[in-house]
Amino acid sequence: MKYTSTRGNSPTLTSLEAVLEGLASDGGLFMPLDLDFKSFDVSGIFDLNFQGISERILSFFFDDFPDMKRLVENAYKDSFTACDITPVQAVDDRYVLELFYGPTLAFKDVALQILPYLMSEARQVTGDAKEILILTATSGDTGKAALEGFKDVPGIRICVFFPYGGVSPIQQLQMTTQRGENVRSCAVFGNFDDTQTGVKTIFESASEECAAKGTILSSANSINVGRLVPQVVYYFKAYGDLLKAGVIQEGDPVNFTVPTGNFGDILAGFFAKCMGLPVKKLICASNTNNILTDFLTTGVYDKNRPFYKTLSPSMDILVSSNLERLLYLLSGHDAAYISELMTKLNTAGCYEVTPEILKALQETFSCGFADDTATKKTIRQVFETEHYLMDPHTAVAWRVSKEFSASGDEDAALPNIVLSTASPYKFPKAIAESLDIPVSEDEFELMEAIQQVSGVPIPKNLAELKSLPVRFTDVIKKEDMADYVRAMVE
Ligand SMILES: *Cc1c(COP(=O)(O)O)cnc(C)c1O
Repeated sequence: MKYTSTRGNSPTLTSLEAVLEGLASDGGLFMPLDLDFKSFDVSGIFDLNFQGISERILSFFFDDFPDMKRLVENAYKDSFTACDITPVQAVDDRYVLELFYGPTLAFKDVALQILPYLMSEARQVTGDAKEILILTATSGDTGKAALEGFKDVPGIRICVFFPYGGVSPIQQLQMTTQRGENVRSCAVFGNFDDTQTGVKTIFESASEECAAKGTILSSANSINVGRLVPQVVYYFKAYGDLLKAGVIQEGDPVNFTVPTGNFGDILAGFFAKCMGLPVKKLICASNTNNILTDFLTTGVYDKNRPFYKTLSPSMDILVSSNLERLLYLLSGHDAAYISELMTKLNTAGCYEVTPEILKALQETFSCGFADDTATKKTIRQVFETEHYLMDPHTAVAWRVSKEFSASGDEDAALPNIVLSTASPYKFPKAIAESLDIPVSEDEFELMEAIQQVSGVPIPKNLAELKSLPVRFTDVIKKEDMADYVRAMVE
């Protein structure tokens, strides 16, 4: 199986090469060429555990990795505190898919615990002796998950850029105290979109120069297909869990609501649907940065709008990279068309899809958004009535999921699974405000207070941050990101 760019202007590669390179040389994203998603064999898959499902799905997309079973086993051996990796909890009248039991307490661990194994393997199998430098832009959670996944992996270095003041203090500490010899984090003046654009620009402008010096630049963001595919797994796993619990019979349709930023998580849900998982609606939940709500309603994607900092910072994004992959699929792999849309986005900041594509989008995707007031109210309500504590991103999704059920949509009554993407302890200030806990500037005091009120234990990996030394203090201008990387390569 070969991989090709959504923009059609770079060489086709094997999956090993696509995972290694991360981003296509024409600025597009890698997608499997000629892969019939429907040919995926779902028989017996719901009887498998997380690792078993993982092996089946990863081997389907990455067929030239010789021993996927070993990679999966190593990645998930003892990195998660939940024995089945991504458990499902019944809460009120819906199901919460808890994705935050990895080392950094956010869903990104699911993919970033295995991506380093995939990359190391790809490096060995292709015999590429060059050193890899992973560049990652983060809105808060990817950065830490990537640092943790890649720490001390031989032959690979990693540098994470995060928006200065744009992540929660706990998220920042997680990144600036990271251990490991091959890691670094750096703050950038600007917002997430500035840092993401900065990284993409470095790929376009400096890749060749770095390669000449023996370093391959690559990405751990969900623009890397190796980040995306491992996320398909938990959609199957959750469906299997509902089957085992007798909530559904095999073949029954279900809805998933996904708190969305860069559109990677929800796109993995779409892959699952294309592969035969009975997914009816994928509900795209946004915060006040509701560009996707507008897009899925009107077909117009317009980033010329104010950028808001919200209580759900990992969704404070105006350019959702993975939408490009969805449009590529829905346009019948029309790379010229995608190229045209992305050029418009870069120049005018805006594009509109054809009525046919809008119709295809709306067949699967529903949408909605919740502002900070609604988010806090939701955290409080669900805690008071269900004694379940959710983080702000999950609360956005919960709220939008409830609104969908009340909307009178013909699919409203189907079982609803809400993706829970982070531990509430990553956002102690937002939780304290929601629960009327007196707000202190010291986030560790807040964690203690939340633990007292909720009875939910503070995760060990967050508690220990308090005593770790800060190792990285750089803050740079976005214009200086390329030089910063050049200096690392020298
Ligand atoms: C990254 C993130 C999201 C958004 O996921 P995308 O794949 O970027 O859409 C939602 N919630 C949390 C907690 C995250 O870290």
